[in-house]
Amino acid sequence: MKYEAVIGLEIHCELKTKTKIFCGCATEFGADQNTHVCPVCLGMPGVLPTVNQRVVEFGIKAGLATNCEINKYSKFDRKNYYYPDLPKNWQTSQYDLPIAEHGWVDIDVAGEKKRIRLTRIHMEEDAGKLVHSGTTIKDSASSNVDYNRTGVPLLEIVSEPDMSSAEEARAYMEKIKAIMEYIDVSNCRMEEGNLRADINVSLRPVGTKELGTRTEMKNINSFKNLEDAINYEIERQTEVLEDGGHIVQETRTYDPARGITLSMRSKENAHDYRYMPEPDLPPIVTSEETIEKYRSELPELPDARRARLEKDFGLSDYDAGIITSSRAMAEYFDAVVATGADAKLAANWMMGDLAKNLNEEGLDISKSPVDAQRLGEMIQLIMKDTISGKIAKKVFKEMWTNTDSPEKIVKDKGLVQITDTKAIEGIVDEVIANNQKAVDDYKGGNKKAIGALVGQVMKASKGKANPQMVNKLLAEKLG
Ligand code: ADP
Ligand code: ZN
Ligand code: MG
Repeated sequence: MKYEAVIGLEIHCELKTKTKIFCGCATEFGADQNTHVCPVCLGMPGVLPTVNQRVVEFGIKAGLATNCEINKYSKFDRKNYYYPDLPKNWQTSQYDLPIAEHGWVDIDVAGEKKRIRLTRIHMEEDAGKLVHSGTTIKDSASSNVDYNRTGVPLLEIVSEPDMSSAEEARAYMEKIKAIMEYIDVSNCRMEEGNLRADINVSLRPVGTKELGTRTEMKNINSFKNLEDAINYEIERQTEVLEDGGHIVQETRTYDPARGITLSMRSKENAHDYRYMPEPDLPPIVTSEETIEKYRSELPELPDARRARLEKDFGLSDYDAGIITSSRAMAEYFDAVVATGADAKLAANWMMGDLAKNLNEEGLDISKSPVDAQRLGEMIQLIMKDTISGKIAKKVFKEMWTNTDSPEKIVKDKGLVQITDTKAIEGIVDEVIANNQKAVDDYKGGNKKAIGALVGQVMKASKGKANPQMVNKLLAEKLG
């Protein structure tokens, strides 16, 4: 039997508010343990929470940006469970009346568009963190609880089980990340856990509709781990089913070091949590005007921006897709073009040499040693024929470690393109005189032989002769 994968994601997105969701403590990352805490987020008896209005605003904006309906009447609920990182023994979350529901986003995988539906977006508080003296709880003599993260606001974005491969799941998570960055509600730093996903995977026979039993892998915080965990789980489940076995509904953990998923515990069901309305918080009632105000504050979103880059600058759908895939990339592109640089050249350089160098050093574009201003200046040197595209590669490489302006680098290194006809003619004459065989081949009808001669001229000029002029002069002189 052939199986197909069914995948649904629950993405937790940490919001970039200054203060926590129900108290005034700072949300800042990386502070000393238990320095951002107060009686409210420590779960002391006799204190009352108040809702941070910013969190509601961000929840509504996230909903609007993902085509959700906003619930004008929404409320918080208590999700009860026991764990040392949860001082109240319940997590204040939302159950049956989340802030937003029934949305969708479009993804592209291998040139194909697909719509992924969002079930809901709800607001909740993060839990604290156990800090082990060893590497895991098992090999630790002791563990501290750090409550700094307790009460940091999160949005949980739940998808329908609409994805059928690791690539689709990745594209979906990339889209959600881009949207959250564009609307500026989260830093989306996956390595800091700002954005993490629980992935649900099941299999079903191809052509059937009924969902199979799923497993869930929690807290996946990199795109690589997301893809690897899904692919491993698809393989594992396929083997179990092909051997005539049954999938156990359970929570598994992904171990990136070994590239495998391991059983953690049997999966809890909603009724295990004894959800109940949060009595300490009033319901959240939002007027149409407020929703429209938030809608009017939304920036241009990734899909719209992509369409605009195609229309205004003639970029290909593929290029525009990559450039708008993160807010930082899109803004960098705009800044390069704003210097007066040609848009297509800007796109080519961003997706070529810039991307390559950033990748090699594992740098985000916001940390690029070549900023948009300088790349723009360099592209203008190409546009003015001061340097050729080929020399520009050398200039770009130099710019990576040298903070001078591209113009100064080109001057200092003597890289200015030779566009003086007399000077190029001199080299061309010399090359013709010294390469009789290629000249004869060309005259004998092998037009390709001119390539070797062009190559010789470029070499003799150390790559600085203007290639168009070299071609033209050679063709003229050879008749
Ligand atoms: P929870 O995991 O908290 O119990 P849900 O039952 O709402 O919550 O499901 C969470 C996620 O699991 C959703 O993204 C949903 O699309 C996905 N999901 C549900 N059933 C399946 C299934 N059989 N196969 C794959 N994903 C599933
Ligand atoms: Zn607090
Ligand atoms: Mg779940």
